[in-house]
Amino acid sequence: MNIKPDQNLAKDTKQKTGVSFAASLEFRNIHHEYNGKETLQGINLTVEPGEVLCLLGPSGSGKTTLLRIAAGIETQSQGSLFLNGQEICSPKSSLPPEKRGIGLMFQDFALFPHMTLLENAKFGLTALSSSQAKDQALLALKRVGLENYADAYPHLLSGGEQQRAALARAIAPRPAVLLMDEPFSGLDSRLKDTIRSDTLSILREARATSIVVTHDAEEAMQMADRIALLRDGKLVQVGTGRELYEQPNDLFTASFFSDLNVLHGRVKNGQVETALGQFDAKRFNDGTKLDVALRHSGITVAKGQGDLVARVVTRRFMGRLEQLRLAIPGSEELISASIRVGHLAANATDIELKIDKRDVFLFESQS
Ligand code: ADP
Ligand code: MG
Repeated sequence: MNIKPDQNLAKDTKQKTGVSFAASLEFRNIHHEYNGKETLQGINLTVEPGEVLCLLGPSGSGKTTLLRIAAGIETQSQGSLFLNGQEICSPKSSLPPEKRGIGLMFQDFALFPHMTLLENAKFGLTALSSSQAKDQALLALKRVGLENYADAYPHLLSGGEQQRAALARAIAPRPAVLLMDEPFSGLDSRLKDTIRSDTLSILREARATSIVVTHDAEEAMQMADRIALLRDGKLVQVGTGRELYEQPNDLFTASFFSDLNVLHGRVKNGQVETALGQFDAKRFNDGTKLDVALRHSGITVAKGQGDLVARVVTRRFMGRLEQLRLAIPGSEELISASIRVGHLAANATDIELKIDKRDVFLFESQS
């Protein structure tokens, strides 16, 4: 199974690595329904050439449906799709999937088990002569570091290698846009970090515009140039990971990016008062009911001059961090804190806490 890297391939590579030129992909007012239930409700989103965009959202929010529409294997009920400004699909007419230059990598990245990696990678290259297809497939395998496994069958590979082989198959036709549906979901959690960053380098090198679907906010932050957060078939916020983490538009976005304590209060004289303390609320009208959200990680143990007193109810060692459940005066519900191990004495009961204002968010209550 040890195929020697082909010396001629390297030369060829120089001429062929131009790959496809990255394209922009625009979703314009995309609606979709299953049996009368709206699964997508007016999606407007442009993915820029060469950009890696993560489509993030809980299960059932419509991520897969949006990818399937982009790939051309599902049809929207309203709205259009534009590739480099050209309309490729409307409810009336649609460019067939194989003509779009859009590649799709499925959730379980199913490689064909009875085919070698080379055959798998050649699979989508039907437009080329057999020898051209072989060269291009080998090139793709080389990109993912599997050129020596060209003749191997998928079951001989580790999970991470299979993932890379599936990636090779997806990039072999040099798609202008590459769509990946939860590409890391089947992998061991300790493998994921490395495989994600390897995948990202490969996507950058291939210069394909990419949409990566995930339900994991950390994964999205690690990979994305921008994140589009989807909820119940609607985009709730689009921006860099930092923007969504630091300036969430609503409680849903905030809670997607970190664990929160949520308390409630009403604005009075430009302030809101809760058991966690008083916070500036001038941007809301007096009398407005607010959700006051505080990240678990926004609480630290104070060395004197705390913002708050608390009693430790439970604590759980998690390695680098310790999870505390705390009783605080004025709140019937316990609050949660995630603190660095070593910051709290083993026998601590009554403690003082500090709250980082950057980890507090105020939103108008929806209930
Ligand atoms: P996600 O990928 O974000 O988990 P999906 O796009 O798969 O979400 O699904 C969006 C919604 O559409 C869900 O409510 C789901 O139950 C529904 N749905 C998905 N596929 C079908 C189908 N083939 N028939 C009917 N409803 C479906
Ligand atoms: Mg899905």
